[in-house]
Amino acid sequence: MIFIIFIFGLMAGSFINCILYRLEQNQSFIKGRSYCPHCKHQLGFWDLIPIFSFIFLKAKCRYCQKKISWQYPLIEIITGIIFIFVYLETKVSIPFIGEMIISKGIEALASFNYLILFRNLFFSAVLIIIFVYDLKHQLVSEKIVIPAIIIALTFNFFMKISPIGIPAGSYGVNWLDLLLGVIIGSSFFLSQYLISKGRWIGFGDVYLGFMMGAMLGWQKVILAIILAYFIGAMIAVILIILKKESWKSKIALGPFLMIGTFIALLYGNKILEWYLG
Ligand SMILES: [Zn+2]
Repeated sequence: MIFIIFIFGLMAGSFINCILYRLEQNQSFIKGRSYCPHCKHQLGFWDLIPIFSFIFLKAKCRYCQKKISWQYPLIEIITGIIFIFVYLETKVSIPFIGEMIISKGIEALASFNYLILFRNLFFSAVLIIIFVYDLKHQLVSEKIVIPAIIIALTFNFFMKISPIGIPAGSYGVNWLDLLLGVIIGSSFFLSQYLISKGRWIGFGDVYLGFMMGAMLGWQKVILAIILAYFIGAMIAVILIILKKESWKSKIALGPFLMIGTFIALLYGNKILEWYLG
């Protein structure tokens, strides 16, 4: 199963590369087939196999011999690894909630758990796209973040009505938690944006805060923001010590918010239980 999830992750990574490229080129990411960015030759089935095509083609385009960027296999592998983490963490949760609802039938439990797995894989893919795009361009793309907000809200809204009725706060997200999540997530950044007149953070971060709230609910969105600032501060200090950046440099907040969101999504329950305990 881990192997299948990894392969699935590689394929998702390949799709993420495609979305990132089309976002950068300002193209539609639903229509059209993949092609080489240099010679525009349409890619065949064998050119699209993650990692293997890169290795067999020796990192060159089959048609024009131009070098293929390392970004492609790197994102594929990272997505594969992240998908394994998501799978393992979601799998671990089966016995945890299993005892509570064993009487309601194991099949319903399994299907609900697959739903959570699918949701977490999807959210993770979105986080990877925003992470890479913000890191490369210091921009949050509305074309990604707005659909992500709509899908996250829809998903979490209906997950509450699970076939077995998982109590809110354990795995499903309570509607009130969700509402408070988007309010806290967006207003935290909106207030900074308004006070600084857009000098401290960009408006894209307000969208990100909203999306994080929609994905996580209010408890974990606070956790995600704390984690993001903590990790961001550590990286900043390391960069300053290494003299790569100075105290006056700016670094994008988005990638750290995505790391915080990912950790809160997967390990939020454990961290909150540990902290509150
Ligand atoms: Zn080419």
